[in-house]
Amino acid sequence: MAVLREFKCKQCGYAVVASTTPYVVLLSGVDAQCYCEKCDKIVKVTAGENYQIDVTRLNLSCETCGTPVKVWTPDMGCPKCGGGMKIVESIIHF
Ligand SMILES: [Zn+2]
Ligand SMILES: [Zn+2]
Repeated sequence: MAVLREFKCKQCGYAVVASTTPYVVLLSGVDAQCYCEKCDKIVKVTAGENYQIDVTRLNLSCETCGTPVKVWTPDMGCPKCGGGMKIVESIIHF
């Protein structure tokens, strides 16, 4: 189970559903949360089954388009314009 929140950029209104952490722990393992410029969205990249893994140190690429991606968290600011993200609502994701 993971707690996801909907964030919205205070400057440009770009909205994403994301975790506050750079990783999402699932039953199957750990997913890294990244922003893909090409897909223009937050993407999950499978990081493996090791729950102790530091996803920020991995070389990750988008599983849809293959573009290298970096881990993203909402406190890093809007991936579009760099503006501050605010929480719109909390979503419990199973
Ligand atoms: Zn923005
Ligand atoms: Zn992509």
